[in-house]
Amino acid sequence: MSPFSLLDLLCANDSKNSKKNTINSEVLLEKLKEMQKDCIYLDNNATTKVDPEVVEAMLPYLSEYYGNPSSMHSFGGQVGKAVKQARENVAAILGAETSEIVFNSGGTEGDNAAIRAATQAQPSKRHIITTQVEHPAVLNVCKQLQKQGYKVTYLSVNSQGELDLAELEAALTHETALVSVMYANNETGVIFPIEEIGKRAKEYGALFHVDGVQAVGKIPVNMKNSTVDMLSISGHKIHAPKGIGALYVRRGVRFRPLVIGGGQERGRRAGTENVPGIIALGKACELELLHLESASKKQKSLRDRLESTIIEKVGQCEINGGATERLPNTTNIGFKYIEGEAILLLLNQHGICASSGSACSSGSLEPSHILRAMGVPYTTLHGSIRFSLSRYNTDADIDEVLTVLPAIIGRLRELSPFKNDDAAWLKDQEQALAQH
Ligand code: PLP
Repeated sequence: MSPFSLLDLLCANDSKNSKKNTINSEVLLEKLKEMQKDCIYLDNNATTKVDPEVVEAMLPYLSEYYGNPSSMHSFGGQVGKAVKQARENVAAILGAETSEIVFNSGGTEGDNAAIRAATQAQPSKRHIITTQVEHPAVLNVCKQLQKQGYKVTYLSVNSQGELDLAELEAALTHETALVSVMYANNETGVIFPIEEIGKRAKEYGALFHVDGVQAVGKIPVNMKNSTVDMLSISGHKIHAPKGIGALYVRRGVRFRPLVIGGGQERGRRAGTENVPGIIALGKACELELLHLESASKKQKSLRDRLESTIIEKVGQCEINGGATERLPNTTNIGFKYIEGEAILLLLNQHGICASSGSACSSGSLEPSHILRAMGVPYTTLHGSIRFSLSRYNTDADIDEVLTVLPAIIGRLRELSPFKNDDAAWLKDQEQALAQH
C-alpha cells in the first residue's frame, strides 16, 4: 500500500478534469458557493476569510477612488491620505514607526526582499544562518545564494521543534551577514525565542530578519526595543486579501530594494501602490489588534479542547510540538498507522477543511520537511494533520470535528494492514520513500 495513493488520485483527477472541461466563471462560483455553505474551515494558517469590514473598507478604492497616491492633484492626494492611515494601522500592530513599513505583495516577497537586502548591503559577508524548518520563501532563497557561493547554516530543531541556542552561538561569526528565522512555525505553531536569537546575532554584527507571517495577529509582536531589523507580514493570513503584505525595516538599517523602478515606498519597493490591498491590510491590522487578546484566548480554548478530546477518544496519537510554546490557534496531530491524506479526504466529505504537510500543488507528496526535521517517527509522520483556527471558529465547529474524527480514524485504522505493527509500517514507508 503506497502512502501517496489517495492524494495522487485526487490530484490526477483534478488535472484531467481541468483539461477536459472549460467551466465558465459563473458556474464555478455557484459550485464554490454550494461547497462553502456548510464548510467548517480549520485551515487558517494556509489562508483566511477576508473580514467583511475589510471588504467594505477596500471597495471604494477599487471603484470611485482610483487616483494614484503619488499624483500632485487632490484626487490622488486623498487616496494618499488613506494609504497613510493604513500605514499607521500596520505600524501600530507591530509597535513600529510608519516610516519603517514598506508595503509589498506578501510574505514571500518580504522574505525574499529582506534576505537579498541583507546580502547586498554587506557584500563582503558571505554567511547566512537560518533554520531547517523555515517556509520555502526563505529556504529557497538561501539555496539559491548557496549556489552563488554563500555559506548557509541550517539550524536543527529537536523533537518539539525547538532551536538549540548553543548551536546558533557556535554557527555565528563576524562573517555572518544575516540570521533569518521564523517567529512561529506554519505547520506546528511552535514559537521561536526571537529576542534571544536576535541578541546573539547582534553580538556578531549580523542583521536579523524574522518571518512574522504566522505570528502577527495571533500573538503580540512589538518592534519597539526589539533586536529585529526586518520582519515580514502577509495580509491573507490575517483576514485581508491575497497579494498584499508589508516588510518592517528598522530605521537606520541599510536596505537595498528587491523591486527597482519608481521611488514609491521611499525607494524601498518600486511600483504604483496596490491601494485597495493596502487599505485592506490597514483595516485588517486594526481589527487584529482590537481582537487579539479575546480572539487568541478563545482559539486557545477551542484548540485545547480539540486536542484533549482527540487524545482521550482516539488514542495512539501525538501532538507535534505540543510540549513547547505554540500559537494559540494551531495544532498538528500525528495519528499512528494511517495516512494524513486519507484523513483529510474523509474530513472533506464532512465539509471539514484541514491540511497536511504535503500539498497537491507543490507536485511533491513527500512528508513535511518540518516534521522530518523534528524527527517525528515514521509511524506518525504520514498521519500528521494540521488544524488551524481563526476568530470565526466556534464551539460548534469543534463539536463537529470531535463527532466525526474518531470514527474516521477508527475506520482507517481498521483498514490499515499495519495497525499496531510499527516494524511493518516502517518498512512500507521506507520502501515508498525510496521509490519516490
Ligand atoms: N512564511 C510563512 C511562515 C508562511 O506560512 C507563508 C505562507 O504560507 C509565507 C511565508 C508566504 O506568504 P505569502 O503567501 O503571503 O507569500
